Amino acid sequence: MSNLTKPFEALLGRFSVDMGIDLGTANTLVCVRGRGIILNEPSVVAVHSGTGEVMMGGMAVGNAAKAMLGKTPGNIQAIRPLRHGVIADFEVTEKMLRYFITKVHDGRAWVKPQVVIAVPVGITAVERRAVIHSAERAGARKVYLIDEPMAAGIGVELPVIEARGSLVVDIGGGTTEIAVLALGGKVVATSLRVGGDEMDEAIVAHMRREHSLLIGEQSAERIKTTIGSAWPLEQELSMEVKGRDSITGLPRRATVTSIEIREALSEPVRQICEEIRRILEESPPEIAADLVDTGVAIVGGGALLFGIDKAIADYLGISAFVPPDPLTAVARGTGVFLEKLEIYKNHLISDDE
Ligand code: ADP
Ligand code: MG
Repeated sequence: MSNLTKPFEALLGRFSVDMGIDLGTANTLVCVRGRGIILNEPSVVAVHSGTGEVMMGGMAVGNAAKAMLGKTPGNIQAIRPLRHGVIADFEVTEKMLRYFITKVHDGRAWVKPQVVIAVPVGITAVERRAVIHSAERAGARKVYLIDEPMAAGIGVELPVIEARGSLVVDIGGGTTEIAVLALGGKVVATSLRVGGDEMDEAIVAHMRREHSLLIGEQSAERIKTTIGSAWPLEQELSMEVKGRDSITGLPRRATVTSIEIREALSEPVRQICEEIRRILEESPPEIAADLVDTGVAIVGGGALLFGIDKAIADYLGISAFVPPDPLTAVARGTGVFLEKLEIYKNHLISDDE
């Protein structure tokens, strides 16, 4: 039996698990009211290539599926259905959502839950409906959609429903979501198709070009999270990388330094900075004035790139900060949203009616 079951709920037999879901391009997190984040897994699904059937046996979604990325035999495909920030594959997304919701319910009798789902700013009306329907088919009684930056703002306790501007930059896998928030709404917002994946690709390209070494995206991600940076380190680092020589075709090692990786990452980092600048320029003067005091809040996995706050602050000339636990900000925000539903639902749109 799962340790998530509380005795009280077990006694009742039936209960409602209202949940908030951060449906990210890289990771999906589920936050349950009163219990915090109880699921945090990669947004990856393994399917049989021919039939498109999700692999059975509970090992086909999330962590287990991510381990298969880049290593699957011919008949199996590991898919990231949200990869580029839009839902590239509705069907697989729905299966994934259903899998995660069912996993949280743990197969017990339950009252249909209310579900809050954080979605990217750039998602189309058709995709919004698809997400809502997926959650309904997975058993939700009521579905609320919330913009990811808004959820993140709530999660890190920015004054998003006050008459004061806050700027949130959420650097995820497939996209960077940027929004200026005030009075419970987004004043200006955009979704840039540059995020952690683009950084990984920049590293793959660098290794091929400068070291004649072919490496996979998983290896590139490891390099990024181990020695990647957006600002000079006090003590520059180096690490050993394994891959396939692009000329001999044989496996070999190479040593890379944090200096060259920072250089490789500078282009995606610059694109993110430029987009934030564009959003600042579009903000009304009064709101822009607020941002001088509050600064830029950076969340998402990309916020963990060393020195990203310094790089952004340096580029924009206003302060930038990474709040604690930036990877779970959106999920925590959906949890707070559920707890204070009466307050927030008047401010934020529930566009499923
Ligand atoms: P999404 O919301 O799109 O699912 P996340 O916010 O979960 O994305 O962030 C995932 C991204 O963050 C991945 O590209 C991952 O490589 C990156 N990431 C995670 N940790 C670090 C780190 N320490 N340094 C740089 N990038 C990181
Ligand atoms: Mg995210």
